[in-house]
Amino acid sequence: MPRPDLELIRQRYTFACGYCGVSEVSAGGLLTVDHYRPLAADGDESLANLIYACIRCNQHKYTYWPTEEDANLGLRVLHPLRDILSHHYRLNPQTGRLEPLTETGRFHITLLHLNRPRLVRHRLAQQLREVMEGKLALLERQIHELEETITAQERYISALEEQID
Ligand SMILES: [Zn+2]
Repeated sequence: MPRPDLELIRQRYTFACGYCGVSEVSAGGLLTVDHYRPLAADGDESLANLIYACIRCNQHKYTYWPTEEDANLGLRVLHPLRDILSHHYRLNPQTGRLEPLTETGRFHITLLHLNRPRLVRHRLAQQLREVMEGKLALLERQIHELEETITAQERYISALEEQID
């Protein structure tokens, strides 16, 4: 099976790592392609098996594939598009750390080192940026409203002045 176009994989993962969410822009270049089920464990080159991943996540995951015993215990890597990630872990907005909600989530976070310090800092910075952007948008709306109020008042004053004349 020929490998699908890299462009298609990048689009499918919106140009960011399927595991940790770091974007190409933040990483400063193209990311890598991970075989969800490794080739060594009979994985293939189908689109569903190819995950756009940053080099760190790809290295941490490496060739892990659950043994039957692991699978029975729910110890596996979550698939970014097939699993509902929010069932397995959540982001603590105060600390920037991912907190497991299931044993699978705990395993996934640990195996991929999803609370590595740089990533946690990156998440916190990202959140701060979003808060600031929200505040900026609010200020811009308020300025716009004030401008409209001023225009209306100027019109009112002009009307009054015409009456006086
Ligand atoms: Zn990653």
